[in-house]
Amino acid sequence: MTKQELVRLLALEDFTPVYEEADRIRRETVGDEVHIRAIIEFSNICARQCRYCGINCTNPNIKYYQMTREEILATAREAIDAGYRTIVLQSGENPSLDREWMGSIVREINGMGATVTLSIGELSDEDFRYYRQQGADRYLLKHETADPDIYAELHPCGTLESRLHSLMAIHDLGYETGSGFMIGLPGQTLETIAEDLLLLKKLNCRMAGIGPFIPHPETPLANEKQGDPELTKRAVALARILIPDANLPVTTALGLVDGRENAFACGANVVMKKVTPDEYKEAYEIYPAMLDKTDIRKDRKLLEEQIRALGRIPV
Ligand code: SF4
Repeated sequence: MTKQELVRLLALEDFTPVYEEADRIRRETVGDEVHIRAIIEFSNICARQCRYCGINCTNPNIKYYQMTREEILATAREAIDAGYRTIVLQSGENPSLDREWMGSIVREINGMGATVTLSIGELSDEDFRYYRQQGADRYLLKHETADPDIYAELHPCGTLESRLHSLMAIHDLGYETGSGFMIGLPGQTLETIAEDLLLLKKLNCRMAGIGPFIPHPETPLANEKQGDPELTKRAVALARILIPDANLPVTTALGLVDGRENAFACGANVVMKKVTPDEYKEAYEIYPAMLDKTDIRKDRKLLEEQIRALGRIPV
C-alpha cells in the first residue's frame, strides 16, 4: 500500500471491511492464539526528557526506584510459574545501568525457560550486541513518530535519525525487532500515521505497539487532547495488513481507553500484562492509569479466561 492509499483508508467513513480483512489475515497468518507477555518495570530512572512521558527527568515529583536483582528474578520466577514464557524487562533509559548486572539477569531468566525481551531505551551498538550475546531475543524501541519535526519537538534528548539507527542495529544483530508509535500526538496528521505504518514495514518489525497518546498531568503536554481509540484501532488493522505475521499487542494504553475486546478484533494477537510488584508500579507512570493490585497467578488466569471468552486461545 502507498502512503496515499493508507491515508484514504484511515479516513474511511465505514472502516468495517478493513477490520474484517485485518482479522482474516490475522487468522490465516498468526491464528487464533493470543500471546500473553509479562512486563517487569524494573526501574523508572531515565535520563531523557520526552515531553509526553510522566517519568521524564524534568518531573520533580518522581519517586525513583530500581528493583534489586533478587526482586527481579523472584518476580520473573513467579510469572514463569504462573504460565508466562516471555518476560519483558522494561525501564527508563539509564546510561549508568550496569550492563554486567543486567546481562546476568537476562541469562538467569533464560535459564528459567523464558524468552527475554528488553525495552531499556537507545543504547550503543556495542551494548545492543552485548545483551544479544547474553541471550536477549527481542528488543522493543518505539520510534514514536516518523515525522522528524514532531520527533524533535517531543524529544529534546534525541533525534529520529539516531532512533532509526538503533532500530536497524537491533535488527541486524538478530533481535526480533519491536517498534511502534502513538496516535494523537500534537501536530500529527493522517499522513504522519501513514508514514509511521510504512516505517514499521521498512524496519522489518516483527512487533509493533500502536497506542493512543494519553496526556500526563505532570508533563508539558498535560493539556493536549487524548489520542482517538478508533483511529488507533484503524492503525493496528492496517499494520496487520502491511506486516501480516507481526506480533501486534493490544497496548496497555488502548486497553485503558477502549476495552480489550474491541482491540483484538482489529488484528491484535498479543497482550502485555504488568507483573511489576505493587510497591513500584505506581512510580512507573508514563501516562496516568488505573492500577489494580498485582496477583500474578490470579491476573494471568483471569486474562486467559477473558481471551477464551472471545473465542481465542491464550498461550
Ligand atoms: S518515554 Fe522512555 S525514554 Fe522518554 S522519558 Fe519516558 S521512560 Fe524516558
